[in-house]
Amino acid sequence: MNSKVYMIASNCVIVNGAKKSILLDLQREKYYELTEVLTSILSKKFFKSWDNLNNQEEEFLKFLIEEEVLVLIPESTIEMFPTLDTSYHSSASVSNFIIELSLLNIEYSNRILKDLNTLGCVHLEVRVCEDISFIQLLDYLALIKDTTIEIVDIFLPFIQGKIENIEKLKVHASEVRWIYIYSAPIKDLATLNKKRISNTLYIKQNIDASLCGNISPFYFSINIATFNESKSYNSCLNCKISVDRNGKIKNCPSMNFDYGSIEADNLSKIILNKKYIKYQSIKKDDIKVCKDCEYRYICTDCRAFIEDPQDLKSKPLKCKYNPYTGVWEK
Ligand code: SF4
Ligand code: SF4
Repeated sequence: MNSKVYMIASNCVIVNGAKKSILLDLQREKYYELTEVLTSILSKKFFKSWDNLNNQEEEFLKFLIEEEVLVLIPESTIEMFPTLDTSYHSSASVSNFIIELSLLNIEYSNRILKDLNTLGCVHLEVRVCEDISFIQLLDYLALIKDTTIEIVDIFLPFIQGKIENIEKLKVHASEVRWIYIYSAPIKDLATLNKKRISNTLYIKQNIDASLCGNISPFYFSINIATFNESKSYNSCLNCKISVDRNGKIKNCPSMNFDYGSIEADNLSKIILNKKYIKYQSIKKDDIKVCKDCEYRYICTDCRAFIEDPQDLKSKPLKCKYNPYTGVWEK
């Protein structure tokens, strides 16, 4: 008779931290916290039964079976379940471009977009500065037609965030995914977001240092692409390039150094810069503290705001999690 064994589904992996372990379901984009005993049982690739579990842990294993995270298979089919391939490949040299759209750099739009097209960029984030009119933004978006760009996220100043403008943006460019209305009055945020139209969000932040680099479970990205990328590259800066409002070319607009100016340089040249490449390859397993954190392959790795600016590999400044105690500080 063919006996059966339990195994963790191939799309699920366990990540151990200093204090806690989690189980990631990379297909259904969920994670579960594990006790020490459960980690020890589930870390075996295949097992027939379990002992010494309390009621809660027994119930949790049953729950994982219902969720199809834990599956029962005939022992004779074990060879048919190889471990997950965690290698990462990207066909584009740059997949992600952030521009702070200002009067200065809008003049170079054609050249920048031509460059991005050559590099195979698919994702564009436009942070619209307050000196740009709505008409100028529409003209800019018209230029992305017939390029490799497939997804556009827009940060629009509150002053331009009227419903009719938002609707125009969506009609004008089908590539538009999310529209964030920044600098929205804090007292009106709840009301505005209650009435918002889909794929629009009113936020209190400006497009400055407060906008980006925040670390919390809200920003975790639980999927195979992020997991594999985080194992080999920087989970924020890999294949990313940006131009800030002053035309400076950087890994991201918040970095405090640049590689040149859009007035004189091409993006294709900058991506060969050794320092630019180095930032892309700083992975979570290289970062102090993060390398001991169970969330390291689903968490963003901010390099613009770090605990010790003198240490390239120090922990993201805006993270309040301590993997040695397993507690998020307030
Ligand atoms: S490095 Fe930090 S500030 Fe820059 S894009 Fe990434 S998360 Fe945002
Ligand atoms: S310690 Fe590092 S990996 Fe863990 S949550 Fe904070 S930033 Fe993310």
